[in-house]
Amino acid sequence: MLEKMDEKFDTIEVIEEFEALTKDAETVQRETLRRILEENGGTEYLQNWGINGRMDPVSFKACIPLVTHKDLEPYIQRIVDGDSSPILTGTPITCISLSSGTTQGKPKFIPFNNHLTESTMQIFKTSFAFRNREFPIGNGKALNLIYSSKQFRTKGGLAAGTATTNVYRSLQYKKTMKAMQTPCCSPDEVIFGPDFHQSLYCHLLCGLIYWDEVEVVSSAFAHSIVHAFRTFEQIWEDLCTDIHDGVLTGRVTVPSLRTAMSKLLKPNPELANLIHKKCMGLSSWYGLIPELFPNVKYIYGIMTGSMEPYLKKLRHYAGEVPLLSADYGSSEGWVGANLNPKLPPELATFAVLPHIGYFEFIPLRENGQGQELKENESMPVGLTEVKIGEEYEIVVTNFAGLYRYRLGDVVKVMGFHNSTPELRFVCRRNLLLTINIDKNTERDLQLSVEAAANLLAEEKLEIVDFTSRVDMSADPGHYVIFWELSGKASEEVLQECCNCLDRSFVDVGYVSSRKVNAIGELELRVVKRGTFHKILDHYVGLGAAVSQFKTPRCVGPTNSAVLQILCNNVVKSYFSTAFS
Ligand code: AMP
Repeated sequence: MLEKMDEKFDTIEVIEEFEALTKDAETVQRETLRRILEENGGTEYLQNWGINGRMDPVSFKACIPLVTHKDLEPYIQRIVDGDSSPILTGTPITCISLSSGTTQGKPKFIPFNNHLTESTMQIFKTSFAFRNREFPIGNGKALNLIYSSKQFRTKGGLAAGTATTNVYRSLQYKKTMKAMQTPCCSPDEVIFGPDFHQSLYCHLLCGLIYWDEVEVVSSAFAHSIVHAFRTFEQIWEDLCTDIHDGVLTGRVTVPSLRTAMSKLLKPNPELANLIHKKCMGLSSWYGLIPELFPNVKYIYGIMTGSMEPYLKKLRHYAGEVPLLSADYGSSEGWVGANLNPKLPPELATFAVLPHIGYFEFIPLRENGQGQELKENESMPVGLTEVKIGEEYEIVVTNFAGLYRYRLGDVVKVMGFHNSTPELRFVCRRNLLLTINIDKNTERDLQLSVEAAANLLAEEKLEIVDFTSRVDMSADPGHYVIFWELSGKASEEVLQECCNCLDRSFVDVGYVSSRKVNAIGELELRVVKRGTFHKILDHYVGLGAAVSQFKTPRCVGPTNSAVLQILCNNVVKSYFSTAFS
């Protein structure tokens, strides 16, 4: 199927293939599991658990336990250290992905192989076919704001980098982008540049050079798009100067970037003046993207989950241009494609591709006392056994050495596409904020911040970014929320925001603990402008890729570097009086 991607992309054919594949997802799942076990049944891991050549779902579930990353660490570590015996996969793993691991500040190592590249292309291709049916594009270009992470070799000599980096490097990726009529504006040197600030500058410059050819503005996660246009607001005049003179700013110092850009950059005073005029004509940068790129058809990237807080700003830059939410996956493998691109990102669902992995779902239920998610006594159910309206944690078995691996994400089944479920991403499973009987997830924090942000909107201010922590240094412990704001807010408004945050955590455990002071007053700390850039830089320094960056919504106690950045930049603190 992939070979066809070299040639012309046939939307109808891809959709028909997908329709056929999802007609009987259960059989496809069975077959996928069989293929995975046929390839890997002889590995140390599967042998140790006594799979003994069996390849059916019942035996598989009976023999192999549900695991988390922690359980697999000893095996993965041996692979990382260079043991090439068949530990987790029949064919040795030669490449490792680093997942973002943002909360605890430590990236996780995950085995990567060609199967994962291939499933990435399957997902891209599938969602592109459905997208292109609704929003056809011509033969233009994509301003694709993607970046590679630092690549390094592990002690055992394996190539290591983020999963997106491993994909961007592959030949298949380029072929696919070409077949999908969206080659990047930027040359490879920009994507793989060693300094992301310089790469971002060059991405923007490339976008402007090809301004009338850009049909898609995209990134892996929406954060990178917002970040890029926030940066544009600061540097647009420098970009105009470069275009005017045909000379790259001295701020870009990386030789490979300079060489690559010199091939594209020619003096073009007319274009520079046009961009200047366009920028001057905008009111608070509303509609910046279509103003710069008049042929842009849509903006594309993951906009769900922890990306939702950036949607407001993205809509502001996008004006009338539609925002299309991208697919759902992780470094551990892809899960589903967005087949309904017309739905707004807040309602996006992902249809599971039944042939890229074997999926199970742990039912989660409300325990009747507020929002606690509780693991049901029952066993995980199969892909086609999930029920509409129910929430589950996803368990993945893939072609790259993960067997019954708990992904840690909570999803809700919204419907079925033929016989494969369409999932909505709910949140990460782990609790962010908990002191005693209170339990608040990333989603709860997001809702609380959204409620308080409404008070700021009245002042024409916005939250640039936010995070949280639990402070147990005094008794009782309390929640701390960190906010970076787009401007200066009055004391009264911030005090009101602080109270609103406190009141908006509606978890029964939290409210009852607050009432009896078993949890102290919520604290809102406003940090200096640029603090979250410093956090991004910190993660990039650790080997994270900007492309996969997700602001940690809770900073764990072990993440001292990020805590320090936050605490060193606090401008002012407020304590809630909501329960006094
Ligand atoms: P990483 O492997 O570091 O890129 O992170 C993967 C995680 O990103 C997933 O487990 C999800 O929590 C989150 N994620 C990926 N795709 C989506 C999506 N479409 N919507 C919401 N969250 C997503």
